[in-house]
Amino acid sequence: MSDDTLRYTVFGHPVGHSLSPRIHRAFAHQCGIELDYGISDVPPDDFAAAVRDFFAGGGAGANVTVPHKRVAFELADNHSEAARRVGTANVLTPQADGSLRAHNTDGDGLVRDLAERHRVDLRGHDTLLLGAGGAAHGVAWSLLDAGVQRITVVNRTAASADALCDRLGEPERVRSRYWDDLDTIGSYDLIINATSAGVTGQSLSLPFSLVGARAFCYDLSYGAAATDFLAWARAANARLALDGLGMLVETAADTFELWHGKRPDTEVVYRQLRSTS
Ligand code: NDP
Repeated sequence: MSDDTLRYTVFGHPVGHSLSPRIHRAFAHQCGIELDYGISDVPPDDFAAAVRDFFAGGGAGANVTVPHKRVAFELADNHSEAARRVGTANVLTPQADGSLRAHNTDGDGLVRDLAERHRVDLRGHDTLLLGAGGAAHGVAWSLLDAGVQRITVVNRTAASADALCDRLGEPERVRSRYWDDLDTIGSYDLIINATSAGVTGQSLSLPFSLVGARAFCYDLSYGAAATDFLAWARAANARLALDGLGMLVETAADTFELWHGKRPDTEVVYRQLRSTS
């Protein structure tokens, strides 16, 4: 690797498990691009300084994951439309004028995985969104843009569900309900698990009555963290039960295109990861 090799990283805490370096290296190999993509495990108190050092040292771009996405947004000088409406960033890119630009690829990544890889026509779907954290914010607008009929947001902390609904600003299509009411709020065509329960080894205890006939169930988590939710969805006869690996690959492809101007073939990388994870 030469001294002028472009340097990228993913900031998170913890972040050792991240698949981003592997995905970006695979894309780079495919496109004949030489790059150095590392991992930066940085606690919250050190994040701002670490970002400044990385870019002052010539870093060409950074992905950002939990728990830094909101601060990443705040550190940036300017923001893409996707980042602005979500209020968090998972991509930071230095600009030619020296400014730092924030972007968020989560929503488009989910919609592309569902609509293109799994051929789900999202139009008209009555959607249940479980969770109201950063990822739920990231995907909600893109689901509305993709034409879902309605989103019901249910979160353990009710105030966060209300805040997300207020931010979405479409009272005709978006409503919040209490977690305790899950037994009585009917059934849905599309259920998105945007909670981090699986990551922390907790189970959600969801009623089967939520799963409508031929419903699609999607967990933004992947690997072992999605096991419980996917088992629940299959037991409830969901038409499709999917984890978030495809979304992860699609969000990385958006970032790769932003940085390198080339669209990688995501399917081959998705299949490689699927066969080894
Ligand atoms: P946040 O910490 O911002 O939000 C976590 C959410 O999960 C909150 O709504 C929280 O509710 C809820 N929650 C946590 N534990 C429980 C529980 N035991 N029961 C019910 N609700 C619970 O995390 P993110 O939004 O950033 O991430 C959420 C998930 O999405 C993670 O698993 C992450 O890995 C995944 N993700 C996947 C991506 C992909 O590309 N596939 C991209 C981004 C995220 P409360 O408000 O009450 O605390």
